[in-house]
Amino acid sequence: MGAPVTIDRDRLAALRAVEEDLFIKRHPRSAELAAQARTSLLAGVPMPWMTRWPGAFPVFFDSANGARFTDVDGNEFVDLCLGDTGSMTGHALPPVADAIINRARTGITTMLPSPDAAWVGEELARRFGVPRWQLAMTATDANRFALRFARYLTGRPRIAVMDWCYHGTVDETLAILDPETGAVVPRPGALGPQVDVALTTRVVPFNDLDALEATLAHGDVACLLMEPALTNIGIVLPDPGYLEGVREITRRHGVLLINDETHTICAGPGGATKAWGLEPDMVVIGKPIGGGIPVAAYGMTAEVADRLEGPMLGHDIDVAGVGGTLTGNALALAATRATLANALRDEDFAIAIPLAARFTEGVQSVIDAHGLPWHVQRLGCRAEYWFCPPPSTGSQAAAAIDEELDAFMHLWTFNRGVLLAPFHNMSLFCGYHTQADVDAHTAAFAGAVEALLG
Ligand code: PMP
Repeated sequence: MGAPVTIDRDRLAALRAVEEDLFIKRHPRSAELAAQARTSLLAGVPMPWMTRWPGAFPVFFDSANGARFTDVDGNEFVDLCLGDTGSMTGHALPPVADAIINRARTGITTMLPSPDAAWVGEELARRFGVPRWQLAMTATDANRFALRFARYLTGRPRIAVMDWCYHGTVDETLAILDPETGAVVPRPGALGPQVDVALTTRVVPFNDLDALEATLAHGDVACLLMEPALTNIGIVLPDPGYLEGVREITRRHGVLLINDETHTICAGPGGATKAWGLEPDMVVIGKPIGGGIPVAAYGMTAEVADRLEGPMLGHDIDVAGVGGTLTGNALALAATRATLANALRDEDFAIAIPLAARFTEGVQSVIDAHGLPWHVQRLGCRAEYWFCPPPSTGSQAAAAIDEELDAFMHLWTFNRGVLLAPFHNMSLFCGYHTQADVDAHTAAFAGAVEALLG
């Protein structure tokens, strides 16, 4: 074996500066809009994450269709971010657009259920294998409601999550294990923690059944909220037997198991839960199910549902801490019905998954050709490269975060017409992508690596 390949940081900084200049030259109209937005919007953006794109300012998009979008300067891009899963169906699907327009013309929100409600419940049950469902606005919301129900049912105060998980802006989940002390501490970056996470949350490393056993033995955990594979810190796949072990241990300790399928829907129409035959007590799904309209859902076993139905019909359910005024409205249900009837189906995954496999092969061949200590991981139609060998825990993956390199790879790829997901190097495929799109990314990736290594 030769010496490990290392990245020359001066070279990286010089290359990045060239890409920054190119970015500015290609986006004059976005620069104007960004300057205008700075006067009325906090940090110049409608939502804080939008400051995290590499480049001197955010790019403003004009239109998006299928797997492509065009920015306000007329540049066209292959979209491998797909709204970080929110538009995983592909953009602007005609039947979804029709359903949304029709509902907008016939009334959006009344606090009454619409006729699409039962269809949506039945379809979610068919896909994910748990029979009874509720709607929420976002996956964050759905997770919060599921946690509240779990605490109610078990009477236990704490929840458990995986180290370096991400489940939205749910306060108790923004917690990690301190790498020095092993104590539960706020996740780096969590602003103004609303609660002391050490009081609300137990954190366990992914792929570690002994740690889970020891943690749940405290007897104070209501539920384990987890992704079947971690997707927000690269992709960390479960070891063989791990998920079966999780189910056995949670059952034995009377801890409800909640699968958050918001990203792992990339594994197939019913997420990893269906694809891998998992048996959670509750399932959460958000982001793409409304074709981009904010809607999420959480489902549960008949056993959980039967225990909740009494309180659900109680007089005070409107102040119980679950639900919301616009939640489950006619627009959300119409968009969800049209989306689930026309997208995220077996036939869509049959196109998208081979494209993700081609992406993985292309990126891996570049990694291998240069002997880089990186890896690329795939789960269904989602793939991500990370600057270390495949990790088995979130903390191992977190230790390999390289923000400079991330930003450079993004910017290089973006300047060559391909958008990756922000904050990490995730690519997502839908039925509208083509092999040529994959190959365009592979060529850009290879070019970036060659430039970096000289
Ligand atoms: N669960 C998972 C697994 C997620 O990755 C995210 C967001 N990335 C959420 C929940 C929260 O989704 P939202 O921001 O739409 O509430």
